[in-house]
Amino acid sequence: MNTRNNPLHLWVQAREMALMGYVTRIIILETGLTDKQVRRIYRDLEDDGMEVGKNRTSNTIKSGASLVTNQLSKLHASLLMGFYRQIGGSTIESSTCISALNRAYRMYRAANTEIAPVSSPMGKEAFQMFTISDAWCLASEMRSGDAMFEYCGVCGSDFFTSVNQATGIHCPHCFQPQNANGRAMLAVEVFAEPA
Ligand SMILES: [Zn+2]
Repeated sequence: MNTRNNPLHLWVQAREMALMGYVTRIIILETGLTDKQVRRIYRDLEDDGMEVGKNRTSNTIKSGASLVTNQLSKLHASLLMGFYRQIGGSTIESSTCISALNRAYRMYRAANTEIAPVSSPMGKEAFQMFTISDAWCLASEMRSGDAMFEYCGVCGSDFFTSVNQATGIHCPHCFQPQNANGRAMLAVEVFAEPA
């Protein structure tokens, strides 16, 4: 964010962020533009026939507490932030790099499109892919040191972890639900119930 002295650059960045679907509050935080200026950018984009995100006015900036809640979301966070870390390098520890985050998010979205058709229906807890604003929240936790990558000595993978996460799962890559049989039976029961 050493671009604050260059107004044109800020407008360009805000425009890109609006197109990526960041919520207004994050665009304001990153660019230092006012709410009114960001609204003006939305209007200009719409006038140009471009689509800007529907939930852009949401003021909620999430944390690991609501984003990393189970094995699946921790896997998603590891995938997304893994791309970000690869692209952004060590700079992401001192500042949030929007261009790297945008690239990482595109890769994450592409990976999800590839994975979706082959993933089995066992992940019943339907997981909504992270949004770009969610990605920013995870990235700010990495910048502040609230989140980091850890190495798993069991499976040899790196995984994303946040001090705020709402899950006790350590490594999402090799974690096995303890009561796998019980879960399977429960699923059958639930499935059979309406009959
Ligand atoms: Zn592991």
